[in-house]
Amino acid sequence: AVGALLPVVGADTVVPLATGGTTTYVNLDNAASTPALRAVADRVAQVLPHYASVHRGAGYLSRVSTALFEQARGEVGRFAGARPEDLVVFTRSTTDALDLLARAVPPGARVLVADVEHHANLLPWQRSARTTVVRGGADAEETTALLEAELAAGRYGLLAVAGASNVTGEVLPLRRLARAAHDAGARIAVDGAQLLPHRRVDVGRDGIDYLALSGHKLYAPFGSGALVGRRDWLDAADPYLAGGGATLDVRHDGVRWATGPDRHEAGSPNVVGAVALAQACLTLGALPPGALEAHEAALRARLVDGLEALPGVQVVRPHPQDAVGVVTLTVPGRSVSEVAAYLSAEHGTGVRDGRFCAHRFADALGLAEGGLRVSTGVGTSSADVDRLLRALRQFLTTGPALRYGVVDGCWGP
Ligand code: PMP
Repeated sequence: AVGALLPVVGADTVVPLATGGTTTYVNLDNAASTPALRAVADRVAQVLPHYASVHRGAGYLSRVSTALFEQARGEVGRFAGARPEDLVVFTRSTTDALDLLARAVPPGARVLVADVEHHANLLPWQRSARTTVVRGGADAEETTALLEAELAAGRYGLLAVAGASNVTGEVLPLRRLARAAHDAGARIAVDGAQLLPHRRVDVGRDGIDYLALSGHKLYAPFGSGALVGRRDWLDAADPYLAGGGATLDVRHDGVRWATGPDRHEAGSPNVVGAVALAQACLTLGALPPGALEAHEAALRARLVDGLEALPGVQVVRPHPQDAVGVVTLTVPGRSVSEVAAYLSAEHGTGVRDGRFCAHRFADALGLAEGGLRVSTGVGTSSADVDRLLRALRQFLTTGPALRYGVVDGCWGP
């Protein structure tokens, strides 16, 4: 039902197979990037012929583009449940948004983070001596309890967590963590890259102080993202980028920096990217409540059940209390890169292998040699899941005719 409500572009893409034939592509790598929604592609096609430089242009198209850009800001804010006093700063991505926030944390505020994070929500904090990185627990519940206990020591100004893991799909109880952070006098920042494509988040209702997100995980193209959150730290921080548009006045004896989003958005902004992101937010936000969750819960259950029925496959944390459609597995005795290459070359099925930019977590999960990640999206059907399961079964029973590896982007033995 979700696939019909939210059609994506490229669902019928035909790809070459190593055998010489072709097949329709099966995208099971939505956790890396999602295809564009049809509504997003249409919106981009609409604005592309007419965009112009925003803010200071006097021409008609500049004024239209400025209005579109600011309207997009409002739409992203509404999607995220921004409070009236929050800022929505457009960024290139989640990584960019978290780096911005890491530079905006007031001096003296200590940061708490667990080592289960994607590098985007670990390394910007770890660069600062004011950060404590705790070891994650055996599951999301245990990690939450560890963070709560650490917060209770009361030494922190900020807790940074991912809403959903890009390795296991586990969802953290954000309201509970927000309460624990606030009770301890800290704020909470949420890396929403993996959660927002699957669940609605409302920063006001959920008590989240900062939320980072990426367009390309939300069915819009690359190059747009946002940081949504409390204004005071952002207005007091050094501008993230120094340059045109971030200033009120530049004189020989000093610079007066702007406040608000302009402060951190120097340079000509990505208007088309912002409009695309906003359209994705509008379209996803208009879904009937629960539709997305039901779609992916069914797919996840079908996938995990199917994987557990395959001898020779091990699923990492297969049954978390709460999880999105991201499942990682291993095939003991076989290289996951080889399996991934086989799935692509012989079955036109795209998955991801490796340590998923979460090396510390991957190591803790026993994935030092990497795992194979299967991730669903709004365009995924149960037939896609079944095709993957059949392909894996075939790999396990017959093994690939060749040993696959990627050579300069081509399939090779
Ligand atoms: N956090 C998580 C949990 C992610 O999965 C990703 C993307 N893999 C990021 C952050 C970084 O997102 P981006 O590449 O869009 O900056």
